[in-house]
Amino acid sequence: MPKRISLVVPFYNESEGVDAFYQAIHPVLDALPGYSFEIVCIDDGSRDDTLERLIAYKDIDPRLIVLELSRNFGKESAMTAGLHMAMGDAAIVLDADLQDPPELIARMLALWESSGADMVLAKRADRSSDGWLKRMSALGFYKLHNRLAKVPLPENVGDCRLMARPVLEALKTLPERTRFMKGLFAWVGFKTVTLEYTRPVRAGGTSKFSGWKLWNLALDGISSFSTVPLRMWTYLGALGALSTACYALFVVVRTLVHGVDVPGYASLLVAILFFGSVQLISVGVLGEYIGRIHEESKQRPVYLLRAVHRQDAGDAPTSEA
Ligand code: UDP
Ligand code: MG
Repeated sequence: MPKRISLVVPFYNESEGVDAFYQAIHPVLDALPGYSFEIVCIDDGSRDDTLERLIAYKDIDPRLIVLELSRNFGKESAMTAGLHMAMGDAAIVLDADLQDPPELIARMLALWESSGADMVLAKRADRSSDGWLKRMSALGFYKLHNRLAKVPLPENVGDCRLMARPVLEALKTLPERTRFMKGLFAWVGFKTVTLEYTRPVRAGGTSKFSGWKLWNLALDGISSFSTVPLRMWTYLGALGALSTACYALFVVVRTLVHGVDVPGYASLLVAILFFGSVQLISVGVLGEYIGRIHEESKQRPVYLLRAVHRQDAGDAPTSEA
């Protein structure tokens, strides 16, 4: 029996890219006859004709399974949906814009077989295809995250990776709604090997991740995997109290020795404003975590499926999540 491999590919408004993706992927799969492939394409609530184009390819290629989400849930949820649906002995996550080149599939499979590992990471050899700001912010994020979180994220590794069945089953046991997938992938552990690749620029269309979306993803990452931002206020507060006590002693002694000295308006105002701001920041950090507790406590599903389009079973409507 050939091993079954599931490709998991999230699509969001990738109308321009569907043809390019299929044309690039199918010769690569045809050249790997030792495996049987399924291509799980997730339409993440696209507002263009991405879904129609995917369904058209599904009609000519039985390897395609198209998951239609009920709206745009974001890449993390779309990947979760795809990984839940993947039936293979291993799954490979790829971006739809060909930034994870299909040639990686053969390299990942070869390394998986030869190393006996459960996870094969695709690491960017360099980030020259990203702008300066994105490179710097990514560098800063990985450094900060890895200082704060117990389980470090491998640097310059995106979502593109191969995961064997035990890893897929482990991921299914993680119930959280805030799905920072890079963190969850790292958290489950397992034997991991890495290969390097050069990430090309987007094949067509534009990036779906604005600076604001990336900032929020970074906050999700840090708050899901570290409580240091919560705890640091205890230490900061203790440090502030200690220095205030020293200063108070100094002021009292000075007053006793030199008598009452009224000036001090500037220092008072600075102290009040400074500590007021510090308190607001700490309340904001608390709010971040409380917001997440609120999200989790609602227990809403991570995604909703409107339909699953596949050749053999027809287009089965489903509301399963
Ligand atoms: N994507 C998605 N849902 C979203 C945003 C993005 O499924 O809400 C998909 C997108 O179609 C692509 C992948 O996630 O296949 C990566 O997105 P993009 O290329 O825009 O990110 P970048 O490479 O710029 O980080
Ligand atoms: Mg991209």
